[in-house]
Amino acid sequence: MSYNRLLYFFSTIESTTRGSSIFSKKSSFIFLLLLLGGLLQAQPYDMLLKGGYVIDPKNNIDKKMDVAISGKTIAKVAADIPETDARKVLQVEGLFVTPGFIDIHSHVFVGSNDGFADGFNSVSPDDFSFKSGVTTMVDAGTSGWTNFALFKKHVIDRSRTRVLAFLEVADSGFSAGNAAARDLTKLNPKNISETIRKYPEHIVGICIGHYDGDDWTIFDKAREAANAVGVPILVECHLPKFSLEGQLNHMRPGDIITHAYEKVSERMPVVDENGKVRPFVLEARNRGVLFDVGHGGAGFWFSQAIPALRQGLLPNSFGTDFHRFSMNAGMKDMLNVMSKYLNMGMSLSDVITRATWYPARSIHREDLGNLSESSVADIAVVGLTRGQFGFIDAGNNKIKGTRKFVAEMTIREGKIVWDLNGISATQYNADTH
Ligand SMILES: [Zn+2]
Repeated sequence: MSYNRLLYFFSTIESTTRGSSIFSKKSSFIFLLLLLGGLLQAQPYDMLLKGGYVIDPKNNIDKKMDVAISGKTIAKVAADIPETDARKVLQVEGLFVTPGFIDIHSHVFVGSNDGFADGFNSVSPDDFSFKSGVTTMVDAGTSGWTNFALFKKHVIDRSRTRVLAFLEVADSGFSAGNAAARDLTKLNPKNISETIRKYPEHIVGICIGHYDGDDWTIFDKAREAANAVGVPILVECHLPKFSLEGQLNHMRPGDIITHAYEKVSERMPVVDENGKVRPFVLEARNRGVLFDVGHGGAGFWFSQAIPALRQGLLPNSFGTDFHRFSMNAGMKDMLNVMSKYLNMGMSLSDVITRATWYPARSIHREDLGNLSESSVADIAVVGLTRGQFGFIDAGNNKIKGTRKFVAEMTIREGKIVWDLNGISATQYNADTH
């Protein structure tokens, strides 16, 4: 009950009981308790997103609903939550309200003065996450077991974005350059699994990254470590010396292959020269191998992605492979990758599902990517702009489109961290200064 309603209730009841002093004293005491309780409960919500269209795939919500937030968590999702119940009301009619987006393939181990080599290609998470509705970025193998603590200290602990990681199977990750991934003598499953056990809140899996050797030992070592701690393996390598079929056969249900729609490297693409998805690729998908876009600078081609989409090989997630080159090329940001898929013909609800609930499941973080009551209030409020747009793939090919997502507001743990057009801001009045 809101404070105003409680006051009304109190005054009504009191006027009807006036005249009986005994009843009046007793009832006044009860009403005082009620009033105190009411004051404590007054405006139970800190924030209310009013009038938006909620898409929450985990909970099968796809309709106009209000979303109330208390502290860092979702308090309630329902139709017509009274504005008087919240301290701050945000009018979001005409916009989509979804769980904050999860990018499971990024590179955010930026350089420090502590002496690692290749963080130069990474980006700072907060610089790019919130402006595209992303609240969780998962680093794909930029750190390994020797330098994860450094990554945590310099980036994870200092970012407002939730930063998680696939730990690279090579000892010091991509930050030491690709050569490290080729040195199989340095692979140490025990040290990898111990590091994952030490940081269970931050490390979600193991990455086999940019390996270009011809020895399956790297898969065996990653598997040994993954089995010890029960995490998935992300395969981010072009592996030109391995067949695509061989790679997929080495993957278990729940493992993730990224750069799923690439064509540029020597790796065999998923779609054959006749435009058909290869049968062993569909077989891998059917037994539970997950396909991540992993757009990056080279990982996404319309000639692969469009036939795959039409033949039912949908990506499970929209990993961007965010780094300083892909963001300035065809990839741009996660919203652009989502917009690309929308204009390629994927349904709106399929797009949102692959930006929220599916990636949360794939990294075994079912606490994320949904708007269930009492879950963390990570929220994206997005609009859909209509116009004439172009979308570019890794080969500088273009498709035209008419719809594009725009991130109007992003909320992380109940706090507004991005507000494009000032939905939450106070209207400036020139007369009153
Ligand atoms: Zn990558």
